[in-house]
Amino acid sequence: MAEKAARTTTTRARKPPALPPAPDRRRFRKHLLAWYGRHGRDLPWRKTSDPYHILVSEIMLQQTQVDRVLPKYAEWLGKYPSMGALAAAPDHEVTATWYPLGYNVRPKRLQAIAREAVASYGGQLPSDEATLLSFKGIGAYTAGAIRSFAFRQRAAILDTNVRRVLFRVFIGKGDPKNHAMNRHLWTLSETLMPRRDVFDFNQALMDFGALICVARKPKCLVCPMARSCAYRKKAGD
Ligand code: SF4
Repeated sequence: MAEKAARTTTTRARKPPALPPAPDRRRFRKHLLAWYGRHGRDLPWRKTSDPYHILVSEIMLQQTQVDRVLPKYAEWLGKYPSMGALAAAPDHEVTATWYPLGYNVRPKRLQAIAREAVASYGGQLPSDEATLLSFKGIGAYTAGAIRSFAFRQRAAILDTNVRRVLFRVFIGKGDPKNHAMNRHLWTLSETLMPRRDVFDFNQALMDFGALICVARKPKCLVCPMARSCAYRKKAGD
């Protein structure tokens, strides 16, 4: 009996939170896109639909601040303007060009992706999710970013910033990184996507997490989500 009760409790504890109703989703989209229209950053990888350029920006932005990526992004594309140019470059030169961004497995991965794209896909990145995910070094977030930003597909994203924003606004309490919560947040990201303007919506989510709902000291006093944010409500309990 006690065992059955414990099982029931565990099952209840694992139940994912409910998805927000349509009016809450609409309000979130409206506030986010209005904020982005006024405060969104002007970044060079937002002015291209070249999948390779998007891939380079995404890999560079992993664990690295935007202001450090900007000069290297320009230098890299000046030196390796295409998948073919990167695939053909000597390995040691590619690693040297990456300096001083750090996490030096990233240029190796980037070059491996370029070589595979040249060998199997005519030097282009494919646009479908399953094929993108088959590349070593392209995970769920990067595949979503390439589909959304380069191919303008209706594809969700969930990186560190987006995870934090969605968790705080809609959940508020618990562990945003546990497996079940991560799955729920992916579903939430998919559910919140508008039918159109997915490019802007996803870029807005990332900027909002980078500029307003930051990891330490979120800027709740100037946040357009403050009235409905679960994290803020719980902090005030
Ligand atoms: Fe983040 Fe604060 Fe805005 Fe909530 S109110 S979304 S915690 S910045």
